[in-house]
Amino acid sequence: MAGQDRHSPSTTARVAVVTGAGDGIGWATAQRLAQDFEHVVIADVRADVAAQRAAELGAGHLGLGCDVTSEDSVVALMRQVQERFGRLNALVNNAGIGEQTVMTLEQTVEAFDRILAVHLRGTFLASREAGRIFVQQQSGAIVNISSIAGMQGHPGRNAYGAAKAGISTMTAAMASEWARDGIRVNAVAPGYVLTDLVKNLAAKGALDLQDLERCTPMGRTAQPQEIAEAIAFLASDRASFITGVTLPVDGGWAAFGAPPGKLGTVAEKRVSPK
Ligand code: NAD
Repeated sequence: MAGQDRHSPSTTARVAVVTGAGDGIGWATAQRLAQDFEHVVIADVRADVAAQRAAELGAGHLGLGCDVTSEDSVVALMRQVQERFGRLNALVNNAGIGEQTVMTLEQTVEAFDRILAVHLRGTFLASREAGRIFVQQQSGAIVNISSIAGMQGHPGRNAYGAAKAGISTMTAAMASEWARDGIRVNAVAPGYVLTDLVKNLAAKGALDLQDLERCTPMGRTAQPQEIAEAIAFLASDRASFITGVTLPVDGGWAAFGAPPGKLGTVAEKRVSPK
């Protein structure tokens, strides 16, 4: 329309919300989605970082503070999105923490509850509030972030694994519930991705990066952009007949079942990112 700012809300502009988009996979996803969506809302518990990232993305994008564990905060987030843009096309439930790496006998109820609150309650709350908009529109896509730790047992990660397995099951439940409302719900299950979350676990001695590379058929950890690409696909109309799935994006981790020695060593062979 003549004279209209390309980035001001219009009746056709597409809107995506990414939680925990201040850093890591969420930030890579926000950058990737900005190629497909006129408006990307960066929602992060660190409101200042969210605003800064939105400014980095450029005109039309929005940074909002939101703690996904808080019902009030998530309701306020979706209300602001509705007021500002009048619609929502995609939600990526990415916010997460990885601080807990204690064995089960040392596990505290507080730490357990905290992990489940950020990952599981956060995914539920944001999906429910986005779902209200999507059902009204009779369209929308949700992409959740599970993990290989939600598919297999990882010692010291009982709460994290339970939360991620729960997210995959919730994905299937909501996909089944909303399929005839034109809403698709899928998840990606990343392998190890070199973000602050993983670097902090490695710095604490909870992860050995070389061990991870040895156990991954492709012989390396992922770049955040590789996870973002899969998320962007599932959020797009290119995935129009895909719902209820959890897609591993893990360099072959979940596919591999033989003793690690069968993979050779990192020194022998690596597969570099394209
Ligand atoms: P990260 O620590 O780099 O970034 C997480 C972001 O979430 C941060 O910006 C943080 O401020 C935000 N956040 C934390 N708590 C929040 C809350 N309560 N409300 C809103 N925002 C909050 O982490 P990452 O490695 O990019 O992980 C992103 C997601 O991917 C998480 O769900 C994580 O469990 C999952 N994941 C990561 C890996 C990996 O190897 N890094 C592997 C599998 C799954």
